[in-house]
Amino acid sequence: MGNKFFNFRPSQRKLYVLIASLFSSLTEYITFVRQPLRKKFTLFSIGVLFWILVISSISISALICLGRESNRTFQYFIPQGRATQQIIRDVQNLRVDAYRLEGTHDMDAVMRIRGDSNDGIKEIRQLLYAMGQGGTVNEFDREDKLVGRFSIDPARGSGRTFVKGMSGLMYGIKAGLDKLSVIKLETLNSKTEGGPLENAMAEYDTSISKAIALSNKYSYGIAAAYSSDPQKVREYISIALLVLFVAILMAILLLIVFTATISNSVIKPVKAVTVQIQSLSKGYIDSSKRIKTTSGDEIGRLAIDFNALMETMDSLTKFKKAIEEDEDLADVYTRLAGEFKYYGFDGFTIYEVANSQNKMKPVCPVVLSGAELPCNQEILENCQLCRAKKTGHSVSSIEFPGICKYFLQGDEMEHICVPLMLGGTAGGVVQFLAEKSGMNSLHKEAIEGWLNAARRYMEESVPVIETKRLMATLKESALKDALTGLHNRRFLQECAESLVAGTIRRGKNIGLIMGDLDFFKQVNDIYGHNTGDTLLKETSEIFKKSVRASDLVIRFGGEEFLLVLMDVAQGESMAIAEKIREKMESTKFKVTDGVLKKTISLGISEFPLDTESFWQCIKFADVALYEAKNSGRNKCVRFTREMWKDEQF
Ligand code: GH3
Ligand code: MG
Ligand code: MG
Repeated sequence: MGNKFFNFRPSQRKLYVLIASLFSSLTEYITFVRQPLRKKFTLFSIGVLFWILVISSISISALICLGRESNRTFQYFIPQGRATQQIIRDVQNLRVDAYRLEGTHDMDAVMRIRGDSNDGIKEIRQLLYAMGQGGTVNEFDREDKLVGRFSIDPARGSGRTFVKGMSGLMYGIKAGLDKLSVIKLETLNSKTEGGPLENAMAEYDTSISKAIALSNKYSYGIAAAYSSDPQKVREYISIALLVLFVAILMAILLLIVFTATISNSVIKPVKAVTVQIQSLSKGYIDSSKRIKTTSGDEIGRLAIDFNALMETMDSLTKFKKAIEEDEDLADVYTRLAGEFKYYGFDGFTIYEVANSQNKMKPVCPVVLSGAELPCNQEILENCQLCRAKKTGHSVSSIEFPGICKYFLQGDEMEHICVPLMLGGTAGGVVQFLAEKSGMNSLHKEAIEGWLNAARRYMEESVPVIETKRLMATLKESALKDALTGLHNRRFLQECAESLVAGTIRRGKNIGLIMGDLDFFKQVNDIYGHNTGDTLLKETSEIFKKSVRASDLVIRFGGEEFLLVLMDVAQGESMAIAEKIREKMESTKFKVTDGVLKKTISLGISEFPLDTESFWQCIKFADVALYEAKNSGRNKCVRFTREMWKDEQF
């Protein structure tokens, strides 16, 4: 059973990956992770404002709906109902008046009742007018006393139909009333009964019934609409509550998400930076504790920069530790060059300056001939020609074009030469190169950054280079003879082990020649020590010229020399010794009163032919020399076993 995800077809997987990346970029987008702080807070305030607006507009529209509903009820349905009820009452009064009129026998009463009814009809018409057009309605009781007053909105829909219908009916009623009262008066005059009066009465009553029926119908309609209103209000309230609930829930959820992301992207890194700074102040640098960046704002930038700072400090500390532990200067230069390689320079060279000799030489990368250098070779022999060395300041052709005339590649390259200041003088120079093509302000800015970083590494390495160079000088002087410049016995002690190991590994021989000037004491006695010294110096030159560069010439004692001949064939040492002896014999040394001739005696042994102990083999050469002295001097004597008489000697 494989992982479910990997069972998807590639196209399906692609779709899931796309959806996932879309989702993550959407969250990034809505949580403003990539936005700068100021924008983040502005957007946050806009978000809060948005939700306040949403919630309040929902509340306001709910209230408006409720208000409209209640307005409809209070300004329309209730007044329309009241007016209709008033009309019904008035119409019913008309019927009562009609019966009274029918039953009376008094002409004055007829006229009075007719007047009352006309008043009633007038009131109904006023009410209908108010209902149709809108306006104020006065309510009177039967004694014409004002009992109420209310305003009414113009009729709509069924209201208009009612007003129209009622107004039409009122014409009939008015005509019916007039007819009824005329017939009634005629009846009273003629003292006749029945007939037309009954007909007029029936007609009138029918009209009234129609008016009552129409009014009742309308009144029921209003009552129905009115009673359906509370239901609507309840619906409005519950919808408004639901929408409000959802809006508030979403606002709270988003607030939680934002607070969490903001605290994640702001507070966490700030805390981490604080902790790192605290440990830094106590001297701990731990670049492994990288601050996690969760946002693309200033805090995220701060975290990235802080990580970079920690890394730089860490790598500087590691670099310093490494170069301190490095064996020699070459390792230090190589390591320094290793750091420079990280920057985008198009080349660099580290020069070492030997102030005592007024020379400088490229040490990293090692170049075989001066012709490969971008500078005039003359600077190697006279380091004062190098501007950076001479002034002790950085020399940049970017800042000052053509500043150094000893730089030869000025047409294609820019150079920035930075001196390595050791004890107040330039003990080295690092030359950085950058191609001229593609040089723009952005590139120049980058170069400036690289230079600053490179300088930090140079500054870190300065004390180490200083000590290492001092140590090297000290070591050299300890292993060299000051008078002749030859290696001394200590040097042999240091390198003997590796010399022997190499020789044995290669299966070769070392020839050992021990030489001692004959009656040298006399030179000192006759010509003085200075002449003796000069003679020793010249003798050592003869030795050096007589052997290969790979051989060693060692001043073994006062006027005793040891030659260590590497990889010699058997018997070859004897020939070299003889050559030296002859050369000494034939050399005329200049002294105050003319020339002086000196001879030398030499003893020869071969390692590991004579003995497997190197130091014993040297002793054997010395024994052979003793033999040469004893047998008349100015001789070369090959060591033989017979000469080694006493094993304890
Ligand atoms: P031989 O070896 O032939 O027996 O005679 P020798 O006169 O050379 O005798 P010996 O080896 O005993 O004397 C060595 C002399 O070399 C003694 C010392 O004054 C002299 N000598 C040693 N070192 C120096 C030096 O550095 N400078 C000078 N001028 N003389 C030195
Ligand atoms: Mg001697
Ligand atoms: Mg001697």
